[in-house]
Amino acid sequence: MAAVQNPGKNATVKKPPNSVKNVAKIYCILCRKEYLKPDGHEHMHSMLHHRELEAVLGKNALHDCQACKKSSLGLNEYAEHISTAQHQARLKDLLAKNIKPVSVFKTLSKETIGKVLKRNKALKKRRTESFEKG
Ligand SMILES: [Zn+2]
Ligand SMILES: [Zn+2]
Repeated sequence: MAAVQNPGKNATVKKPPNSVKNVAKIYCILCRKEYLKPDGHEHMHSMLHHRELEAVLGKNALHDCQACKKSSLGLNEYAEHISTAQHQARLKDLLAKNIKPVSVFKTLSKETIGKVLKRNKALKKRRTESFEKG
C-alpha cells in the first residue's frame, strides 16, 4: 500500500508585519475623498473640507468648529479661527484624548446631506456622460 503522498507543504498564511496596522479609511461624501481614520479631526477641520461645504451650500454657508464647539462662522471667519493658537490647542487636545471625530452625517443637517448626495450624483452622471461621448 503506497502511502498517499502528502508533500505536507507549510500552509503558511502570510501575516502582515505587526508594525503595519490596518488603518481604517473613511470616505468624506463632501470632498469625495478618503482619509485615514486617525486624520479624521484634521480633515473635518481642514479648509479643503470647509471650502467644499461652501461649494455645496453657497457663499452664505455656515461653518462649525467641532474642536471649539463654535458654530455659525462664515468661511473667512472660520479660516481665521482655525489659524488661532486657541483652536490649534483644542484640536491637539482632541487628538491626544483619542476622541472620535463626528461624522459629516451628524454635523450637517439632513438638508445639507441631501444636497451633497444630489451633487455627487450629478457629478457622477456628468462623468459617465462625457466618458460615453469619448
Ligand atoms: Zn471632507
Ligand atoms: Zn476651533
